[in-house]
Amino acid sequence: MVIMNTFKKLQLAFASIIIMFTGFGGYAIYQMDTLASATENIFQHPLAVGIAARNLNTEILQVNLLLSQHNNHNNNATIRQIETRRFAMQQEFDIINERYLGSEIDVKNILNQYNKFFKLAENIPSNPSVSDMHPIQGSRLNELNQVQADFFIANQVLIDFASNKAQNFLNTSTQARNLEKVLSLVFLLLFSIIITIYIIQNLIGVNKEVSKQLHLIDQNILMAELDPNGMIHNISHALCRALNSTVQEMTGSDSHFFIDEPEQLQQLKDILSSEKGAKMQIQKIILDEKVWFEMSIEPQFDQDFNINYFNLFLTDITSEKKIEEVSITDKLTGLYNRNYFEMFFSKEMRKAKRDKKLFGVILMDIDYFKQYNDTYGHLQGDYALKSVASMIDKNTQRAYDLAFRVGGEEFLIIFSVENNDQALAFANKIRTDIEALEIEHNSSSVSKFLTASFGVGVFAPSHLLNENEIYNQVDQQLYVAKNEGRNTAALISVE
Ligand code: GH3
Ligand code: MG
Ligand code: MG
Repeated sequence: MVIMNTFKKLQLAFASIIIMFTGFGGYAIYQMDTLASATENIFQHPLAVGIAARNLNTEILQVNLLLSQHNNHNNNATIRQIETRRFAMQQEFDIINERYLGSEIDVKNILNQYNKFFKLAENIPSNPSVSDMHPIQGSRLNELNQVQADFFIANQVLIDFASNKAQNFLNTSTQARNLEKVLSLVFLLLFSIIITIYIIQNLIGVNKEVSKQLHLIDQNILMAELDPNGMIHNISHALCRALNSTVQEMTGSDSHFFIDEPEQLQQLKDILSSEKGAKMQIQKIILDEKVWFEMSIEPQFDQDFNINYFNLFLTDITSEKKIEEVSITDKLTGLYNRNYFEMFFSKEMRKAKRDKKLFGVILMDIDYFKQYNDTYGHLQGDYALKSVASMIDKNTQRAYDLAFRVGGEEFLIIFSVENNDQALAFANKIRTDIEALEIEHNSSSVSKFLTASFGVGVFAPSHLLNENEIYNQVDQQLYVAKNEGRNTAALISVE
């Protein structure tokens, strides 16, 4: 929970840095664009107008000079040169008309002065090839100089305006914006430093928290990492402690270390090679104590979905197992009790049906046990029951054999069988073994030793429908055996 919150905070911090930089980037682009357009403005308007106006001054001075140097010898050349100047001046006027940002009156003024100037020099024909031009002298020259001075004054208005305008553009676009930029950079820098410090602090916090959590896991969770060959790659201190071993000893060794039983070891190997997750219970003797673990095995995949390792999580279930053992075991005989039989019977029946196997059931009852108790006492009766039960236990050690004490002196055995003869032989073997215990029973009319009668049933999978029905069928056979004189076995085969 703590880690999640911190990660959310970090995400928020990174997101705000990204937003900030994106914003700043956008702002910088906007600034550059403004600056570029301002520079363009300066060049397009005040600067171009200023240059054009100054050029006009130069041109008019040159025209004046040409007029003053004019004589009959250079008539044609002067006319051509003056026309060239006028043409150049027309172009400058075009620029001014197009780009001057000030009042139109200013432009009109200078145009008036221009027209005046050239009117005074009207003896200059518009087409130089047509006629001659009379030299200008005396008062007209003075008048021309006066008009030229007025032209300069009118032009100066344009030049001043253009220069002021350029200055304005420069001030607003460059200086003011430069200050803004510096301020926003400082702000950005400060903000980035604060957020970076905040992120570093959070990372240190997260690191501490993660280390604490990992330590807690290592010390409290029974876990290990196995490679696909079953070698221990990683193991928690908690699991090492539970197995009475050390991390050094366990790491790199194979999984024999925490499984004693060969069958369970094989089961684990099968799970690892199946490449699927699974659960299994394992049993181990640690410091002379039988310990049970529930083991959950989960494959761990790499990016290409190949299995890297298997994660093992173990839970100590020894207490539960002990309680379970007590709850399903008959205290006197050590065989499974009636409760367990009731839980187990239908399950075993379904299993036999699924595996399509014949299902064998024996119900046995000690003969004349009431008389035995009456003759030898209840305590001796208990002792006899124990001896009979241990003989049953000895005879039911195969994988599918299970023996239960289902009544006072009644026992039930479930077993797998291949045919009727085999089932009957199995019952008779137990029967003769019990008699061979030679437990004296003087008040029995069937033998001088304690004996038992057997009801035996062999059921084909298709008939395994109702457990009560099966029990009743075997019980009936027990009744038959009792009626046949006891110390015998009666068989029913339902195929
Ligand atoms: P049968 O051959 O017909 O089976 O005769 P039986 O005397 O064995 O028949 P019954 O089932 O009537 O008697 C069972 C006796 O088992 C009754 C009871 O005294 C005895 N018994 C039941 N549970 C125990 C026990 O836990 N300890 C002892 N000592 N005796 C028990
Ligand atoms: Mg009985
Ligand atoms: Mg009996």
